[in-house]
Amino acid sequence: MPLIVQKYGGSSVSDADKIKHVAARALESQAAGNEVLVVVSAMGDTTDELLDLASSVTTETQGNRELDILLTAGERISMSLLAMAIKEQGGKAMSFTGYQAGISTDSEHGSARIWKIDPSRIQEALKEGNIVVVAGFQGFSFENGDTTTLGRGGSDTTAVALAAALKAEVCEIYSDVDGVYTADPRIVPRAHKLAQIDLDSMLELSSSGAKILFIRAVEFARRHRVPLRVRSTFSADPGTLVYSSKDGEEMEEPVVSGVATDNTQSKITVIGLPDRPGKAAEVFQIVAEAGANIDMIVQNVSTTENHLSDISFTLPHNDRHKVVEALKAKQSEVGFESISYDDEIGKLSIVGAGMKTSSGVSAKLFGSLAKAGINIEMISTSEIRISVVTRADQLKEATRIVHTAFELDAAETAVIYAGSGR
Ligand code: ASP
Ligand code: MG
Repeated sequence: MPLIVQKYGGSSVSDADKIKHVAARALESQAAGNEVLVVVSAMGDTTDELLDLASSVTTETQGNRELDILLTAGERISMSLLAMAIKEQGGKAMSFTGYQAGISTDSEHGSARIWKIDPSRIQEALKEGNIVVVAGFQGFSFENGDTTTLGRGGSDTTAVALAAALKAEVCEIYSDVDGVYTADPRIVPRAHKLAQIDLDSMLELSSSGAKILFIRAVEFARRHRVPLRVRSTFSADPGTLVYSSKDGEEMEEPVVSGVATDNTQSKITVIGLPDRPGKAAEVFQIVAEAGANIDMIVQNVSTTENHLSDISFTLPHNDRHKVVEALKAKQSEVGFESISYDDEIGKLSIVGAGMKTSSGVSAKLFGSLAKAGINIEMISTSEIRISVVTRADQLKEATRIVHTAFELDAAETAVIYAGSGR
């Protein structure tokens, strides 16, 4: 019997009625002749609420042992309620925590990586005809058995990892929109749904801020060739197929598949850095030791006699403070003059596999922003992506302008079924 893995996000299980609805959908898939494994997120904004609660008793609200136990409670509530609802509707179901599902990870609290999956209990439960419900976003440390979480949005990773381990036919990711859109429909109401997108473009969209699929899940899917389908819990729409193009198979890819935005980045500028070999390496060694993932980098080479340069780079908001502190601590050693930061930036990216073979894409992007009087502060590119930094308060307007410029606007407004967008 083919196995289908279905993952339901927080807005799909945000209240009792929605949980009953998800139960019915899972039962339908089973009745259609499949084994069904469901991965659930915490109800609605539970994870954020638990984080708020933690902040009211401690300042240590980043990746630690106690916080991970607290946060996994959210997914355990939904998993047990869903299993109860399935049984109430006449089905057979069993729910499993990350530990019970055999998902072991490293010990990096708050962003653990999956180490190994031993799915024997799940397989047994499936064989007995159960719909298996697994709590998303959690595992246990293979070093000491402690509960770990996989990072925000990590339920996608749980689903894809289980789909890979169990060789599922497909991994369906259910949320509150009909699939992968050309832009976030909350920002661009005329965004349209893509029938399909290649995994490479999906990876770039996710890493550029698109929230529909969590980046580590997409990486996992690409590595293990798990076919993904992004669908809505609240409609029968077939959604978007995220496919891995087979070697040697040339598909006609759209030049631009989508526009992604990210308003969670900050910019740091190191001013007056000696313009000598090794200085950039010193700066980014300090950044790396502080544990930050940087994104865009721009260096302005000195024009004056003093042989000093400035380096700006972007990084997640949450990492800005520790990186500024780490750099300041080594200021005299490295020998730069000063450091500044800016939290009011926005990043916009256009992504498309067809960019590889198409010219004029950047001219069109920059031209459309110029016409609207939007200043570009930084630029970076990959083979299939161009990203620009703008002022944060211009990001939404910029997104709509670029979406229109690349003729991605649909005739009708996109449907959003649920969710707070938090
Ligand atoms: N509940 C967790 C979060 O909100 C994990 C998830 O939803 O995937 O980030
Ligand atoms: Mg959530």
